[in-house]
Amino acid sequence: MKITEILNNGKMSLSFEVFPPKTDTAFESVQHATHEIAKLKPSYMSITYGAGGGTSRYTLDIAEDIMKDYGVPTLAHLTCVSSSKETVHERIAEMNKRGIKNVLALRGDIPAEMENEDRSSWDHQFAVDLIHEIKESGFDFCIGGACYPEIHPESLNQKEDIKHLKEKVDAGCEFLTTQMFFDNNLLYNFLYKIREAGITVPIVAGIMPITNAKQVDRAIKLSGSFMPQRFKSLVDKFGSDPLAMKQAGIAYATDQIIDLYANGIENVHVYSMNKPDVAQKIQSNLSDILGK
Ligand code: FAD
Repeated sequence: MKITEILNNGKMSLSFEVFPPKTDTAFESVQHATHEIAKLKPSYMSITYGAGGGTSRYTLDIAEDIMKDYGVPTLAHLTCVSSSKETVHERIAEMNKRGIKNVLALRGDIPAEMENEDRSSWDHQFAVDLIHEIKESGFDFCIGGACYPEIHPESLNQKEDIKHLKEKVDAGCEFLTTQMFFDNNLLYNFLYKIREAGITVPIVAGIMPITNAKQVDRAIKLSGSFMPQRFKSLVDKFGSDPLAMKQAGIAYATDQIIDLYANGIENVHVYSMNKPDVAQKIQSNLSDILGK
């Protein structure tokens, strides 16, 4: 099933993200975690591509597995910045062969060793290059992309960032998933601006439940997200008590999701980080709201 069919069906959706194992030996434990999340029958699941230290090799194995064994629609991430055109073409063909219908087309972070290179010689400079290649492949994929309510860290300003976002949509990106954010007002503001810029595709709000204090610094470093005082107080109070912090982090994420649904944001993607218990608690906190 195409993700846009889920996003446009007029119902609220809740989906989860998982990542592939960092090493071959970790495959079984990651597979187990992804199966446990798939058993919750979320609206769909996305599988990252090499992000957060996960290897890219297993992205399609996990996506195929979840789809076939649990009937859960999957969204396979694909990055392009450090890949040649040939590699990207092979990946796209492999996805099609395995019956993957949905791809999140990303640039990927620039590896440190490539930062000082002349970028004009690269096969792919931006996600839009990958979107063009997927379209040109002729395969029938539903293509998504990433967007940044607090602007992408490399962007000069929000206007530029939104201009490039529009280029991705015009190239064939059919929905956008946001970077994590901890203050919903940032998303509401962003939505107003992108709609004004003529971007009308569905926006999926990305929510990261922070379940331990160590995750906070990492999340800020990765995303540059603003931490509201309400969230900081919670970490100050419960950060040294793992169980309390987990409960508080899940409650905060749940509260954010309820506010999003209440304000007309129908589609929420939870960065569940291979944690079935966190995914399960969030889903059960929303059971009556989602009718599950
Ligand atoms: P782009 O859309 O190419 O944008 C990158 C920057 O370039 C932006 O500042 C943009 O404004 C600018 N730009 C775009 N086009 C132009 C242009 N024509 N001229 C000048 N500037 C331009 N990383 C992974 O490695 N694996 C994953 O699985 C993964 N999943 C992700 C999922 C989501 C929902 C999100 C939000 C991020 C994910 N990332 C992942 C991280 C992502 O790869 C990085 O944030 C990366 O730095 C940017 O990727 P992008 O696709 O948004 O890039």
